[in-house]
Amino acid sequence: MMTDVKKLMVVVPCYNEEAVLHETLRRLTEVLQGVRHKYEGQIVPSILFVDDGSRDATWQLISQFQQESPLVGGLRLAHNAGHQHALWAGLEFAADHADATISIDADLQDDVNVIADMAEQWWKGTDIVYGVRKDRPTDTAFKKHTAQAFYHLMARMGGDIVYNHADYRLMSRRALVALMQYPERNIFLRGMVRTLGFNEGYAYYDRSERFAGESKYPFRKMLSFAIDGITSFSVKPLQMITYLGIFLTFASFVAILYALVSWAAGKALPGWTSLLISLWFIGGAILISLGVIGTYVGKIYSEVKRRPRYIVDKVLEPADAR
Ligand code: UDP
Ligand code: MG
Repeated sequence: MMTDVKKLMVVVPCYNEEAVLHETLRRLTEVLQGVRHKYEGQIVPSILFVDDGSRDATWQLISQFQQESPLVGGLRLAHNAGHQHALWAGLEFAADHADATISIDADLQDDVNVIADMAEQWWKGTDIVYGVRKDRPTDTAFKKHTAQAFYHLMARMGGDIVYNHADYRLMSRRALVALMQYPERNIFLRGMVRTLGFNEGYAYYDRSERFAGESKYPFRKMLSFAIDGITSFSVKPLQMITYLGIFLTFASFVAILYALVSWAAGKALPGWTSLLISLWFIGGAILISLGVIGTYVGKIYSEVKRRPRYIVDKVLEPADAR
């Protein structure tokens, strides 16, 4: 009987989330108890909160939860490693302690009830279940449009990601173990998981507003996440530099021809306006190109250093996942 038991671990990255954690725990516990009940104890759920170097009371809350509930465990990172790395830390832990894992944000923007749906698909043999939000009625127009522009840009750049899927997903242990073989440091999980293969499924839901607290992804972080995503998955920007170079070369032929013709016609104007414009334009193009190359070189640099993705400060195992 005990051999049939499968462990399901929900991984929750948390950065300064003291305002939401009580509610997060309450709702997750409710859903997970439902799952446990439905499968008559054959699925044993647990929750792993990953504290990504928070500066508020997040870790105190997590340790308190771990004392009070056999469902809960915690991982405290020694510094703020960032959402993707915090998630990776949790997934690595889950690969050792569970048969499947579900990653979800702490702020309850993703409907926790979908967990039951994901668990069911997994139970029937699906390795990866992507949580996909139907629409974004509660996001600000700005966030909605920038996010959608990103998905389209990413698709055009050749990055295969699931439209409107963030990091709310279930992965079986074998999918996780395969993911853990990816050695890169610049991680963009939703793109990497997509390259694994295995049998995939989707679970749809409506995304709601943050339960409490503020977004930990201001525009600056979102932009760098988008650039990261594209440059981690596509070399198209590099190719585009070449095209831009070819285009500019042709354009300059035309310009030279024009200059020669006007000179021959005796109409050689002082023309420093056009000169200045082209100067600025070429200067801009060169700077953009250098920037793109710099981004890739920077990535190579950080890969070559092979630094650890995260550093663990404290571990509290969930009693139920032992
Ligand atoms: N997060 C994290 N480390 C960070 C920033 C965010 O672990 O450096 C967590 C955060 O606590 C939340 C999730 O990542 O659980 C998503 O962040 P948030 O909800 O602020 O982003 P948004 O939904 O606004 O894009
Ligand atoms: Mg959020």
